Formats: sequence, C-alpha cells, structure tokens
Amino acid sequence: MNMTEKNIKERIDKLSIRINTVAEHSGRNPESIKLIAVTKTRTPETIDSALKYGIEFIGENKVQEAEQKLPFLKEKYKEFHFVGHLQSNKIHKLMKLHPTLIHSIDKFSTAEKLNEYLSKKDKKQDILIQVNTSEEQSKFGIHPDETLDFIKKISLLSNLKIRGLMTIGIFSDNENKIRKCFQILRKIFEKIKAEKNPIVEMKYLSMGMTNDFEIAIQEGANIIRIGTAIFGIRNL
Ligand SMILES: *Cc1c(COP(=O)(O)O)cnc(C)c1O
Repeated sequence: MNMTEKNIKERIDKLSIRINTVAEHSGRNPESIKLIAVTKTRTPETIDSALKYGIEFIGENKVQEAEQKLPFLKEKYKEFHFVGHLQSNKIHKLMKLHPTLIHSIDKFSTAEKLNEYLSKKDKKQDILIQVNTSEEQSKFGIHPDETLDFIKKISLLSNLKIRGLMTIGIFSDNENKIRKCFQILRKIFEKIKAEKNPIVEMKYLSMGMTNDFEIAIQEGANIIRIGTAIFGIRNL
C-alpha cells in the first residue's frame, strides 16, 4: 500500500466511524445512509484507491471531467452520481456515462430536454430536485416556496423519475444556520410525501458534505456527498 492509499484508507475508516456514531446517536441505522464519494479534481489513480477501500458510489459535478476520468478507473464502482449543475448541451454526454442518479435538476427547460432525449431512447432516469435552502444568490436550486409547483410540472415529464430532494447547506460556521437549511429541505420532503402522488417518490434526501454531514444526518439525510473527508483538501 502506497502513501496515497494509506491516507485514503485511514480517512475512509475515520469517516465511517463518524457516520456510524452520529447515526446511532440519532436513532438511525447507519446502513440506511448512502455515502457518495465526490471525486471532482481527483485523478483516476486516487479514485481507484478509494474504491479499493470500501467506496462504492462516486459523484462528479462536471460532465466533461467525469467523461475524461470514468473510463480510466481500474477498480469497479457500483454507481455514478451526477451532483453538479447540468447544462442542457451536456445531456447526451452525461447520459453516456449512465448516471444512477442526477441530484441537481433545478431548471424546467433542462428537464424537458433531458426528458426528450430519454423518450427517444425509451429510457427512464432517476433524478432529485435541487432546492436552494440557503437562498444564497450564488447557489443553484429552486426556491423552497416554488418547489412544490416545480415538482408538479416535472412529474409530468414521463421519462424522469423523481426520487427525492437535494440541497447544499449554507456556507457558514453557524451550526444553527446550517441546520435550518436541512430542516427546510426535510419539511418540503415530508410535505410532498404526504401528498402521496403516485408518480413522485420521496425516497432520498441528499444533504451533507464534509463540513456539515453530521448535522445533515441528524436532520434525516440518507445520502451524503463527501469529498474532502475522503481525499483531503482540494487544491483547485
Ligand atoms: C464538491 C461537492 C461536494 C463535496 O464537498 P466536500 O466539502 O469536499 O465534502 C458535495 N456536493 C457537491 C454538489 C459538490 O460539488
């Protein structure tokens, strides 16, 4: 085992302990929480090390970068998740990478184009709706107040399967502000669930990154997206 592998294995082991601890303290089964390793900026060799030591699901936020790296992974991954902003001119490239889940649908025109692409191929795609719970201008996502209407519209696109919601918590060191973002998402999640719309499944709550995943798990996250805690600080 070289140094990179050793460091990554140690980080994954520590991260698993933290996930298990917070899950158990919150009365949740740690196995119900899906860990997506966000591999942006990392080389195929580095990603291979993580796949060797327990990572099964990987996430990228740029189509072009994913396209350049995924074919060069030697270790197998079980699922590829797309977590970044999707531009409509990248749809066909992304679909060739067979994403298990697209976390970040927040624009009707892009969703329509994706649906059109899928219907031509007679395929379905699982998606999450990204909500801007921090209301920061710089973040993508639907405004919380508009999310229910947006989901109604998207649910009519028959090749897209809505499976839940995603958010990026506020960038802050104020724990209460971060927690509030996750509570907003959870509330919308429960509200939609209660509507029992047969074509909208509220299964996944994708929230929590390196700096806030413990709060997210306490607030009900069942997908967390972690980069730094697995691979170390990003240089870019
Ligand atoms: C980069 C990224 C992450 C992971 O961030 P870390 O702080 O490195 O854990 C999670 N989600 C999205 C959408 C990202 O772009």
